[in-house]
Amino acid sequence: MNEKEIWKNVLGEIELQISKPNFLTWLKNSQLVSLDKKQGVGLVGLPNNFAKEWVKNRYHKIILTSIRNLEGSIKNLDYVVVSQNKDSLNEIKDVKKTSNETSQSSLIDVKTDPKTNLNPKYTFKNFIIGSSNELATAASQAIIKSIGKKYNPLFIYGGVGLGKTHLLQATGNEIIEHYNNSISVLYISSEKFINDVVWALRNKRTEDMKKKYRDVDVLIIDDIQFIGGKAATEQEFFYTFNTLYENNKQIIISSDRPPTAIPTLEERLRSRFEGGMIADITYPDYEMRLAILKTKAQNQGIFVEDGILEQIASKVQRNMRELEGVFNKVIFYQQYKNQKIDNKKLDEIISEAIQVTPKNITANDIIRVVAEFFEVPSSDMTNKSRKQEIVEPRQIAMFLMRDTLKMSYPHIGEKLGKRDHTTAIHACEKISSEINQNPALNQKIVLIKERLYKM
Ligand code: ADP
Ligand code: MG
Repeated sequence: MNEKEIWKNVLGEIELQISKPNFLTWLKNSQLVSLDKKQGVGLVGLPNNFAKEWVKNRYHKIILTSIRNLEGSIKNLDYVVVSQNKDSLNEIKDVKKTSNETSQSSLIDVKTDPKTNLNPKYTFKNFIIGSSNELATAASQAIIKSIGKKYNPLFIYGGVGLGKTHLLQATGNEIIEHYNNSISVLYISSEKFINDVVWALRNKRTEDMKKKYRDVDVLIIDDIQFIGGKAATEQEFFYTFNTLYENNKQIIISSDRPPTAIPTLEERLRSRFEGGMIADITYPDYEMRLAILKTKAQNQGIFVEDGILEQIASKVQRNMRELEGVFNKVIFYQQYKNQKIDNKKLDEIISEAIQVTPKNITANDIIRVVAEFFEVPSSDMTNKSRKQEIVEPRQIAMFLMRDTLKMSYPHIGEKLGKRDHTTAIHACEKISSEINQNPALNQKIVLIKERLYKM
């Protein structure tokens, strides 16, 4: 077995041992960078520092055990950050360091182009078009032929796992190809954009940052909803937006909801978005889901019985990431465990993978997700407990109730341990001022929000 196969096996084992949200958040984007059988050390790659620390502290033991079951010679594990979307921020910071890092990076299979942040695996060829994404796809393709002129900005929205990132990335890739690299494209998640702005402000490097974003011909920002409510970032984005717009540069934006439904989005940004083209992606129908599965099997050269694909397509309806998750698990059992997938097994896999259908987030959801994230009992958050480890989760929950649900301070205080409204005000103010200075805190909140929206 090579590293990839070993890791696939290891993940398959771990997935059965920890909760699905934890698995998805911390391990889904992990990889086995190298395996030194002589020294007995494996090198595990995680996408960022935060995940690295988290995995090292919490999952080291189970990873090691499971890897040793496959490779007895491995005695220990080391962890490294392997950025997948090679962060341009790091580029600025690490210009000098790159020379001694190249030796290591050759080991690492980074598929994303660090200049554009585009991953070639997302193409139109493997993107299935149906009534749910017809409009969004047509608009994207129209843009390719007439950059900056036709629909600007193009704003695509739709629920989690419905193919926004795939479409955005495929559009970027197609532009590069169509224009033979003569058009510069930059893809960025809004989370990275926020980090860049915060970092640049702190380090007085705003000029570098401005140049980076304003020099491109096509700027693609994914998941813009996370920008809402972050004043400095919104302002920076607004200026960038205007500069690009005035110079007829193309802007493509995605969000999990339409501009009007991002409550904290500044009015001027909202109206800018509404001035372009807005297209949504809705839930794909059965035929489309089946087509996605069949294409996947074909591309991977894997045989799966039609009956199984049909069942998956009929049962997993609302999230294509879940659809793929079920598919991958079926492959895993079939290929690595040599198990026959019967209906019972399939139902089991499906019920593990499918999450509750999206609904409006409530205060209790916030408490539950925050508690789950920090692995503390949610009862401790809602009672008068003064335990030290509850302080931060409780403050974050208060902040999120204010930020996402616009709850009143007395109500927030009441919900979280019958506290006074001044405690709630203090918590919300503390978190919102710290969020801009503390990237780890920011990251935690982004992850928690992501999990909330994915419910
Ligand atoms: P989003 O960004 O909207 O949350 P993604 O673009 O990440 O969703 O899609 C989730 C997964 O489903 C990806 O692996 C993507 O390739 C796949 N997918 C989604 N829609 C399609 C489609 N129409 N055709 C093929 N694959 C799709
Ligand atoms: Mg996405």
